[in-house]
Amino acid sequence: MDGAAPARAAIPPGGTGAAQDRRTLVRRDFLRKAGLGALAGCAFATPEGLRARGLPAAPPLLPPGALSLARLHAHCTLCHTCVRVCPNGAIVPDRSGRPQMIGKPLLDPREGFCQYDCVECTLACPAGALTDLSVLQKHFLRLGVAHLERLECIVVRNGTSCGACAELCPTGAVYMGPGPSGADEPLLDRSLCIGCGACQYACPVKPSVAIWVTGLAYQQLSAAHPRVSHAEDEEMAEDFPF
Ligand code: SF4
Ligand code: SF4
Ligand code: SF4
Repeated sequence: MDGAAPARAAIPPGGTGAAQDRRTLVRRDFLRKAGLGALAGCAFATPEGLRARGLPAAPPLLPPGALSLARLHAHCTLCHTCVRVCPNGAIVPDRSGRPQMIGKPLLDPREGFCQYDCVECTLACPAGALTDLSVLQKHFLRLGVAHLERLECIVVRNGTSCGACAELCPTGAVYMGPGPSGADEPLLDRSLCIGCGACQYACPVKPSVAIWVTGLAYQQLSAAHPRVSHAEDEEMAEDFPF
C-alpha cells in the first residue's frame, strides 16, 4: 500500500496509477467530454439496478484529491490525519473488513458530507495521498455521483414536506420541481453532481435513504455548474497547469 510520497504541488503526482490519474485530470475542454462519458458509464448504477442487486460493488467514495483507489493504495500511510482534520467528520477509516481496504480513509455521507468550500484534508495529508487542491479546483472535482429513488422519498411516498437534499446541495444538482404527478418532488440532474454526499447526509428516510452517493473509479473534473461564474470558469482554465 505504501510507496514513495508523490510531489505535493504536482497535479497529478507521479507514482502508481499516475498515468491513469493524469487522464482523469487533464485539460478542461477534454474533461467536460470525459465527464459526460463518466455519466454514461454510470448507467449501470441506476437506483433500481443498485437496489435490485443490494448495492453491489460501486467504487468507494474517496476523499477529495485521492483521485483513484489505486493511487490511495499506493500513497496512503494510514496516518488518518485527514480523518482528524475534517470539520464535518466526513472521512472515516474503512470498516468493511475487506483486507485490502482496512483503515483506508473513505468519505461516508452517513457520518458527514464534504463541505463545498473546504480543502482541509488535501492540504493536511502528509503523504501526498490526497493531492493539494485549491478551493476553486475543488469546486470542479467530482468525487462521486448521487442516485435518487423517488418512490422511497417521503415527499412522493407520503406527501410529506421535505426537500432537505435540495436545500443542502451546493450545486443545484438536486432541486425541487414538478414530478410525474405534477406535485413538487426532488429531481436530480447528475451532470451537476460533484458527489459531496450532502444530499445523502440530509435525507431523513430510514433505514435506507432515498438519495445516496457512490464513488467513481477516477475523480474527475465536472462540467461547469450554475454556482460558477464565467470569470471563475476562465480562472479555472488557467489554474490547472496541464
Ligand atoms: S475537503 Fe474538508 S469537508 Fe471535504 S472531506 Fe476534506 S476535510 Fe472533510
Ligand atoms: S446531488 Fe448530492 S452529492 Fe450531488 S452535489 Fe448535490 S448534494 Fe452533493
Ligand atoms: S431528503 Fe430524502 S426524503 Fe427529503 S426530499 Fe430529499 S430524497 Fe426526499
